[in-house]
Amino acid sequence: MEKLRKDERKFDDIRNVKITNNYLMHAEGSVLIEMGDTKVICTASIEDKVPPFLKGSGTGWITAEYGMLPRSTEVRKIRDSSRGKVDGRTQEIQRLIGRALRSVVDLKILGEKTIWIDCDVIQADGGTRTASITGAFVALIEAIKKMQRKGQLKSNPVKNFVSAISIGIVHDDIMLDLCYEEDSQAQVDMNVVMTDKGEFIEIQGTGETSPFTNRELQDMLFLAEKGCKILFRKQEEIIGQLNFDHEDAKGGKK
Ligand code: UDP
Repeated sequence: MEKLRKDERKFDDIRNVKITNNYLMHAEGSVLIEMGDTKVICTASIEDKVPPFLKGSGTGWITAEYGMLPRSTEVRKIRDSSRGKVDGRTQEIQRLIGRALRSVVDLKILGEKTIWIDCDVIQADGGTRTASITGAFVALIEAIKKMQRKGQLKSNPVKNFVSAISIGIVHDDIMLDLCYEEDSQAQVDMNVVMTDKGEFIEIQGTGETSPFTNRELQDMLFLAEKGCKILFRKQEEIIGQLNFDHEDAKGGKK
């Protein structure tokens, strides 16, 4: 009989994904993404200026911040504001989210505006950075659609979908979309960010307790693509296709 994981998943299954759009009333784009028990609120906010290094360039910017609520974790995690600084993991994750989204956006078309992405983990059970990227992409598109409706953007600057998923080797088995328990026992831990064209944006792979082979790497990337494809479909269910320019021009879908 086929071996199953603790939550009855097969090794190549992702967890149940739910993306709730328009989750908050104030942000231009807001999403709650749930991947199993991991829950992240992602917002996209538009600011009418760019960082100093882009002033006068006609080019926009996308940047991200990431945080975990104190009780998103099993043991209370002290707030950054109480510690007075952001830890290395948080910095690494927020830069990853920003890079991932910038890679599919034509910042010239965006013009001199900054889109702030905020990813706040309300419950963590592994894969919070990858869920953040997948959810933030939907929030970003919602914010861009809003800008277009207000006449602040002539065309859609986003070229491709982006999603992300984790993969790992746990007790010698390659598994997709690790929960915390699996992640904490993983020999190899990997996060993959992809476009819907099947291209890679970022691959973060670590031999935590043992190195991995090229063959294993290929097998993990194959699974990552499978996972990302499921996520693209979930994103598309909410935001539709990326050629939404003419919908708005016709006063169509809002
Ligand atoms: N985690 C935690 N406290 C922390 C950091 C991580 O409890 O300060 C847990 C949490 O469930 C997280 C998991 O460990 O999802 C894996 O953390 P990792 O740094 O690998 O990032 P993630 O997989 O969430 O992107």
